[in-house]
Amino acid sequence: MSILIKSTTVITQNASREIIKDCDILINENKIAAVGKNINQKAELVLDAKNKIAMPGFINSHTHVAMALVRGMGEDLPLQRWLQEKIWPTEAKLKPVQVYYGTLLGICEMLRSGVTSFLDMYLVGLDEIGKACEQAGIRGSLSDAVINMPGHGVERATAFSKKWKNKSSLVTPHISCHSIYACTEEMLVKSKELADKEKLKFHIHISETRKEIFDCLNKTKKYPIEYLDSLDLVDENTVLAHASWVTKREIAVAAKRKATIVNCPISNLKLATGGVCPVREYHQQGANVCIGTDGPASNNSLNMFESIKLSSLLQKHHYWKADVLPTQSFLDFATINGAKALGINTGSIEKGKLADIILLDARSNASNLNPQHDLVSNLVYAASPANVTDVIINGKIVMQDRNILTIEEDKIIEQVNKITF
Ligand SMILES: [Zn+2]
Repeated sequence: MSILIKSTTVITQNASREIIKDCDILINENKIAAVGKNINQKAELVLDAKNKIAMPGFINSHTHVAMALVRGMGEDLPLQRWLQEKIWPTEAKLKPVQVYYGTLLGICEMLRSGVTSFLDMYLVGLDEIGKACEQAGIRGSLSDAVINMPGHGVERATAFSKKWKNKSSLVTPHISCHSIYACTEEMLVKSKELADKEKLKFHIHISETRKEIFDCLNKTKKYPIEYLDSLDLVDENTVLAHASWVTKREIAVAAKRKATIVNCPISNLKLATGGVCPVREYHQQGANVCIGTDGPASNNSLNMFESIKLSSLLQKHHYWKADVLPTQSFLDFATINGAKALGINTGSIEKGKLADIILLDARSNASNLNPQHDLVSNLVYAASPANVTDVIINGKIVMQDRNILTIEEDKIIEQVNKITF
């Protein structure tokens, strides 16, 4: 199918970060065929986007989408008690149908927040998560997390990755280990070997709390990222979620290895982990910084706008430095850097890229997006999911005029409330 988006303002996120006014975007099948003024080619569908802003869809680089189902459970607990007393016992009893509807619920929320791709890690019902992504039409990079619990070893992660590899245009399997405190050394090494062999990403929670750091030091005499590096687990295909409590040496290691760091500011704040991820140092030294919401049970939303804004504000606050990083960097972290982390040809609006595009209405119900002195600043600090009107993923319209077309949001909400605990 071909789609022509007419007369819009395009935040391209191309190499020179061009913003083009009164610009057209031509989509042919699943790719962007042209970007420019007055494109005269015919298309099967023409979208008049005169008062809208077109930008690449956000990439949520660390989440556990099915946890939408446990949103609001175990409030006001620190991470270890939250996981051990509430979340893990509940997840151990989850049925596939619950994971399926929880995932669809989370996907609806992400689509409304302009998310077109996400990197997920989960422990149960992975096939249901894949099925939900395909039905909704969202790009999911999924993994069946390895964790030191019966039946959650590397064999299971291998089976999932084999089953889904090259099976779907939207779902890509990867490999993840929950954390260094919930996996044995053998699990960590074998998982990364598998990821390398299959050319997949290796995704892990690391350096999230002070407790994790001191437990690791006591056990291995190394700080967590140095420990991972000593096992040869840190490289450009490694995605380190959180990485907040770190030494300067660890930042240098992550940057030297060109690893991805996913800043999850809201989850860190809510679980009171205390450390602020040194985004500035990682970015300036050359690590690939991205932004994630983390799961909707530790956030408690999948609202990327909030996470982008908080990522920036925390850096300014932490360093007592209003110009700590340009505002533009935070839009980059949520788009092009995310695409690099996930290994997908998206993250900018340019000819040849996959057509993952969102439209925001800058006129109707958009007092928060005006005046437009600085569009990037408006997107980072003022925009909200309420401004997102249309979502196109892989060349297909998934949300139009704020209506999700691929899945039935009302029925999903009804089902979730029926099957929840
Ligand atoms: Zn997480």
